[in-house]
Amino acid sequence: MKNDQESNLLKIDFNIKPIEEIKKKISFPNSTIRKITFREKPGFFYRFTFNTTFEYLDKKENLTNEIYVFNSKPIEGDLSEYLVLEGNKEKTQIPDTKHAYFVAKEELKKRNQEKRNKISKFLSFHLEKEKEKIEKDFRKETKGFQKELDEISERLMEFARLRDVEKIQKEKEKIKSLREKSNFSTLEKDKIRAIQLESQKHLLNVENKLSKTTAITYPIYVFTIEVDANPVKKSFTVEFDPLAKEVSGLNCEICGNKVREMFIDSNGHATCKNCSLVCESCGRRFCKKCLKNTCAICSKRICKDCGVRCFRCSKFVCKSHARLDVVTGRYYCLNCLKRCERCGEMKDPFTFKVSKKTNAEICETCYRKEMQGKVLEGVFEN
Ligand SMILES: [Zn+2]
Ligand SMILES: [Zn+2]
Ligand SMILES: [Zn+2]
Ligand SMILES: [Zn+2]
Ligand SMILES: [Zn+2]
Ligand SMILES: [Zn+2]
Repeated sequence: MKNDQESNLLKIDFNIKPIEEIKKKISFPNSTIRKITFREKPGFFYRFTFNTTFEYLDKKENLTNEIYVFNSKPIEGDLSEYLVLEGNKEKTQIPDTKHAYFVAKEELKKRNQEKRNKISKFLSFHLEKEKEKIEKDFRKETKGFQKELDEISERLMEFARLRDVEKIQKEKEKIKSLREKSNFSTLEKDKIRAIQLESQKHLLNVENKLSKTTAITYPIYVFTIEVDANPVKKSFTVEFDPLAKEVSGLNCEICGNKVREMFIDSNGHATCKNCSLVCESCGRRFCKKCLKNTCAICSKRICKDCGVRCFRCSKFVCKSHARLDVVTGRYYCLNCLKRCERCGEMKDPFTFKVSKKTNAEICETCYRKEMQGKVLEGVFEN
């Protein structure tokens, strides 16, 4: 490929209001944006202009292809829908175009393939016709010899059938002298040469020339977004590429997926909607990692603040399924407690004692009262 080409730089003005644009594309449903600032960095894509010449027989056809390469991929379309300005070549650091050029060259092959196929098809058809002509001429010239040869070969077959070795030998000698007599082999060589020459004439020569490389620059916006998510503050760096129409930089801290709707939990973890959960007891928002517990009794998803660990069985339960023992200051889940039939309260069964009056198991408090009553009874009886 010949590369005596020119290169230039164009600039696209998207004419957008970046902050309004980014606000349309991302949101923070459970927090408020305190401040957005942005800077621009240059994005690039490339246009390669190729001239291709198809040369065959005595024809020459030219074809111009403009191939756009963006993010290492060929893209369709042109610049007509954009406001295009002349770029400043001195001020702009244009990245190396080697890889983009390679992509464009591959694309050029694809785009020219159809034409190449069409011409090749035509050429092979044309060549067949030419070959037929050569064969015909050759046949005319060799007809006489051919006839004799045919007769000999017919006889040869007959003698072969009869296994007449002597006669076969004679016929073979006849062939030999016939070939010597005729210029049969010279003719054959001439024919082959004529066909070779014709095949060469029917070759397709394709030449690609890169005539122009155009770098097109445009602004990529880099935002710093400061967010208030009571009680925490977070800051995000987000990029918006107006050509790719793509936002990047906002990712869920749990699953890593790209996020458009960012939830921030009570511990400042930023996640996608799927990885953001609500405590079914207090209603506060937590990420999946912060909200792992469920009540062992009612299965509600609860945060650390809304549950306790049972002193007896160590299970985590919500506060409505736990009781605090005021005497010991320990929490017990309802499964580990027993209802005292005297006072009706849920108490630690390990502390129950047998009533001297009713023989029933009663709680420690009721037992103490009973014992005190007994002592008092005695006092008054005396
Ligand atoms: Zn997620
Ligand atoms: Zn909670
Ligand atoms: Zn969290
Ligand atoms: Zn519960
Ligand atoms: Zn328990
Ligand atoms: Zn009791």
